Amino acid sequence: MFDLLETLVKENKKYIKYGNVATYIPALAQVDENQLGVAIVDLRNNNYKEYFAGDYNQVFAIESTSKVITLIMAMMDNSPEYVFKKIGMEPSGFAFNSILNMEINNKPVPSNPFINAGAIVVNSLVKGKDSNERTKRILEFTKKLTNNPDIDVIEDIYLSEKRTGDINRSLAYHMKGCNIVDGDVEDILDSYFRQCSISVTAMDLAKIGSVLANKGICPWSNERLIPMDICTIVKSIMVTCGLYDESGDFAVHIGIPAKSGVGGGILGAVPNKMGIGIFGPALDSMGNSIAGVKMLQQLSKNLDLDIFE
Ligand code: GLU
Repeated sequence: MFDLLETLVKENKKYIKYGNVATYIPALAQVDENQLGVAIVDLRNNNYKEYFAGDYNQVFAIESTSKVITLIMAMMDNSPEYVFKKIGMEPSGFAFNSILNMEINNKPVPSNPFINAGAIVVNSLVKGKDSNERTKRILEFTKKLTNNPDIDVIEDIYLSEKRTGDINRSLAYHMKGCNIVDGDVEDILDSYFRQCSISVTAMDLAKIGSVLANKGICPWSNERLIPMDICTIVKSIMVTCGLYDESGDFAVHIGIPAKSGVGGGILGAVPNKMGIGIFGPALDSMGNSIAGVKMLQQLSKNLDLDIFE
């Protein structure tokens, strides 16, 4: 397996030149786009194994992949029914930061939890009296899901997001005006920007994926971290909405429940088989890691991971 991963990283580096790092958040524009790494937490044959290659241990900003974590928390803190009264669970067909999805049918409800509007609502549903408390809880839960005590907010990414996040600000104020979010909008945005700025590695993402793949039980400790029904909901929405406007294509050609982020991460959860973490900051035109998607396609073929096959 180590050989396979080494080969995948080596062979797919050629795609990096066709992608670009995200620049709309200035701190992300500083990231070296030539990096590429992959990590796998393998649960097959009742045998816990970790495999990795390339820049699997490089720290980067979790960005949208954090939406998986907060969705789990909001459902655990309230209930799935409560959360999905406030937001939908349908692909939006609009860009991740678009306001248009809330204008359809005159219903100002974000289409799903993985577009920014939906994720801002979800952040506000995580229990905690203010941004500090919510962020502390999100960090604590992420540390448990990754078995990594070093998880923290990357300060310069957070400040950069906060300084330039006017589109997110406009989404949040619009939703406050439409009574979709309650409370102090700036405080909610603050914890949203901090959740996006959490530091992870590809191995951390693979660990989170392995907990989802294992129906909510931590494979390294056997502790249940997530109720089974919530894991099912999250993996389903990863399939339909996890890769921005490339989600349909990804489901057809790769068939792995996954969530990407503009920091270059992709988190994959193959039910009962493995968690996968990718890091490749050069993005395609949809905002997904360009070489990362190629690696996942080859990985899926090589290891028979397509859940629809
Ligand atoms: N912090 C980013 C934003 O809100 C996350 C975007 C993403 O990864 O899709 O714009």
